[in-house]
Amino acid sequence: MLTRRQFLVAMAGMGALGLAGCATNPVTGKNQLMLVGEDQEIRLDRQQSPVQFSADFGPVPDAALNAYVTQVGMALVRHCHRPHMPYSFRVVNAPYVNAYAFPGGSIAVSRGILARLESEDELAALLGHEIAHVSARHTAARISSGTVLQVLLGGAAAAVGAAQPRLQDLAGTVAGLGAGLLLAKYSRDDEREADALGMAYMTAAGYSPQGMVALMDMLRGLSRRDPGLVEVLFSSHPMSNERYADAQALMAQQYASAAHRPLRRERLLEATARLRAIQPALARLEEAQRALGQRQAAKAQALAQQALSFAPDDYAGLVLLARAQLMADEPAAALHTARRAQAVSPGEAQGSLTAGLAAVQLRRFEDAVREFTAVHQALPMTPSPLFLRGYSYEGMGRRAEAATDYRRYLAQVHQGEWAKHAQRRLLEWGYGR
Ligand SMILES: [Zn+2]
Repeated sequence: MLTRRQFLVAMAGMGALGLAGCATNPVTGKNQLMLVGEDQEIRLDRQQSPVQFSADFGPVPDAALNAYVTQVGMALVRHCHRPHMPYSFRVVNAPYVNAYAFPGGSIAVSRGILARLESEDELAALLGHEIAHVSARHTAARISSGTVLQVLLGGAAAAVGAAQPRLQDLAGTVAGLGAGLLLAKYSRDDEREADALGMAYMTAAGYSPQGMVALMDMLRGLSRRDPGLVEVLFSSHPMSNERYADAQALMAQQYASAAHRPLRRERLLEATARLRAIQPALARLEEAQRALGQRQAAKAQALAQQALSFAPDDYAGLVLLARAQLMADEPAAALHTARRAQAVSPGEAQGSLTAGLAAVQLRRFEDAVREFTAVHQALPMTPSPLFLRGYSYEGMGRRAEAATDYRRYLAQVHQGEWAKHAQRRLLEWGYGR
């Protein structure tokens, strides 16, 4: 297995040596520069997607809902240009409006977007669009053209930076773990192509193209009323009125006969009934997350508490409350809340991460080591837990273990306050460079 960094170095080397390959695009049939093979797309997906799913608080603990979305997704896959890819679908706990695809076919939709859909045809449009990004190899093409290489390198630094508070403020970490490394921003052309392919796939599967028009209408309405709410989605899928108009035009020109198919409302409403019932909680969690991003601890805490009064065992709600408590310098309360989150979703990394940070603040370093070990085991591809565990060992005076973790962290991260701290300690302790 290549690490992401080794992979990028290998890619850069191949480019420099002129070993770039050409491949036939599965959608256009044209040859294009393609440095990334299918096996690499799948490998990148397997390495990166778990980190993003965890940043979105993991899949919802609702087997029926995940199965429903999977069933709609797989019905579309049969009609796409790369049906052999290992597609998988899940609903993630994130309260904000979001949906995304990794290059091997791992696709997620957030609770925030799913609770706003009004028919299965809209869901098919959303999943069709994401399947289209995989079918047209948009991420692989962007890696090959060098644009994503930049984004990946810059994005890695940015994500690590965002997750890194100053050391004395370690417990203020609220950004979760570095995510979105492969969720490069698509170009407008990619978006247009994914919309058109998505409409083709959904109509081939028997859905009404009205679903795509309705989805675009819902999204543009949201972005007009509350731009912040859809910021996350639009950072990877640029959005405009133009896409709504394009969907209408395409439906009229190419799919007019399918436009009269009845929308399948009941099945979606039934499958998402529980989500809709906690819509007030989701809305407050979305606001709470935004408040945390703006370092408004008291506001975030109040919003998360309100959300939990509607949905007491909500994993995302508990993690957000624990982070707000950490930020408000209430580590004992934060640890208690994080433990509740862990009880709801054992093994999910964000609960352990937050518990570990609270334990550091309380100088309960042994507990912290245990939590960061759990985070590292859940997400071995992300370096932050190694630093945090090393820091906890350092707090216990166990230099040999601290040095081992610091070295493993430095093998992946070379910049930032955490890297500087690790380098400084290794030198002080006589481990050299
Ligand atoms: Zn898109």
